[in-house]
Order: sequence, then structure tokens, then C-alpha cells
Amino acid sequence: MVKKKRLHLFDSENVSTAKSVAVIGLGRFGQSIALELMSDGAEVLGIDSNPKIVQAFNDQLSHVVAADATNPEVLEQLDILDFDQIVVAIGTHLESSILTTSWLVRQGVENLWAKAVSDQHGVILQQLGVSRVIYPEKDMGRRVAHLLQGGLKEYIQIDSNNVIVMSTAPEVLVGQKLTPQEIFDRFNVSITSYKDGSGTWHRLPEVIDVDADSTILYSGPPAQVERFAKKYL
Ligand code: ATP
Repeated sequence: MVKKKRLHLFDSENVSTAKSVAVIGLGRFGQSIALELMSDGAEVLGIDSNPKIVQAFNDQLSHVVAADATNPEVLEQLDILDFDQIVVAIGTHLESSILTTSWLVRQGVENLWAKAVSDQHGVILQQLGVSRVIYPEKDMGRRVAHLLQGGLKEYIQIDSNNVIVMSTAPEVLVGQKLTPQEIFDRFNVSITSYKDGSGTWHRLPEVIDVDADSTILYSGPPAQVERFAKKYL
């Protein structure tokens, strides 16, 4: 096992918001989580059984350790239970994912996130008691399908009854001055914010002066939002 390396990365500005997060498994998914957290000022411990991966992240994370996460002694030595959040980002190695996760659940970890690579994997993780199961491939696939279909610039599913969508202003609105309420009454979608042609975002203006370069961010139930996008975009 590589000795834990302590770096003092916090400066006085971000120390109050910094959180500590352990990311177990530095595959593509774990890497991007770990690096994003680092850029947000968090303290990040990365663990991977592959020494080459660990070597590559040696200077990029607060601590990096080459270790088998299915071994509870290793996790205990790393004081993993002291971290604010733990992410198990192991997918394809199903057995490793389940063994690591179930030990963490048994230790009473509440802020535990785990990646699932299939519905069955997700069901097992949920049954184990993982607080948050993530389906990165499935979520991304769904999002891209909506982007491909609807001429949308962004599509984010909040839950089964609500999505947030970003698109250029529908032609039917161009040249009009409308209030968000009028848009809701006419189209049944709620405008969340609005970007004018110069690229400035506006938070729910009283009147939206829609030009062809406008981008609108709106939300609503998936079927309603889809209907709006298909009919007017
Ligand atoms: P990706 O995020 O790249 O899509 P994946 O879903 O295919 O990855 P895996 O390849 O199974 O997931 O695991 C991700 C990372 O976790 C890999 O870098 C692998 O070396 C590491 N890993 C797998 N098993 C263990 C383990 N028991 N202990 C520590 N790290 C592990």
C-alpha cells in the first residue's frame, strides 16, 4: 500500500466551504469526480487498486493510495470513515463494488454514493442501503437521446415529473414581449431564466423581449416540455 500523502491545499478563502470526499475507484467516472471536487477546493482521497492510475494522480489529488478497497483493514487505516462523503466509483468490477459498499454501509456511513452500471447492480446497491445510487451511463444516454430528438441545447432530468431544458427561443415567440406568466398560460412550461443575444442571463425578467438569438431555460413535466419543444422549436 502506498503511504497516504498529505498535501495542504486549502487557502484561507475556500477553507470554510471545503469538504472531504473519498473517491474509491479512479476509472473515468471516479477521475472526473475527483478532479472536479479538487477544483472546487475539496479535500479528496482517491483510492485505486491499479498502481499506474494512482501514480498518474499522485500530484493531482490531496491524497492518493494504491489499495484494494474490498479489504476493510486498508479502509480503516486510511480513516475513510472520517470523510464527509464517500463515493464508490467502481462499476465493471461488480464484486469489488458490492463488497466495498456493503462494508461501508455496515459501518453506518450515511453520505455514501455508489455508481451502478446496470439496473440490477443499482437494485443491489439500494438493497444494501446506499444512500445515493448513480447511473452515469444510463443518465447520459437518456440525456443525449433527448438532445438528439428535440433540437435542445440541454436536457436535465430532475425527477420523473420534472425536467429542465435549455433551447433557443422558439420562432413563435420571436419579436414578442411576453411575461413568464403569459408563456406559462400559453405553453404550460415555466421559464426559469433567459439569455439575451449578447449572452447575458436574466433571472425571471418581468417581460421577456424575445429575439432570434435568445436562449431560454424552462422546466416542467417531461411530456409537457417535450410537446412544447417538438411543436415550437
Ligand atoms: P469507468 O469509470 O472507467 O467507466 P468502470 O465503471 O468500468 O470504470 P471499473 O473499471 O470496474 O469501473 O472500476 C473503476 C476503477 O476502480 C478502476 O480504475 C479499477 O482499477 C478500480 N478498482 C476496481 N476494483 C477495485 C478495488 N477492489 N479496489 C480499489 N480499486 C478498484
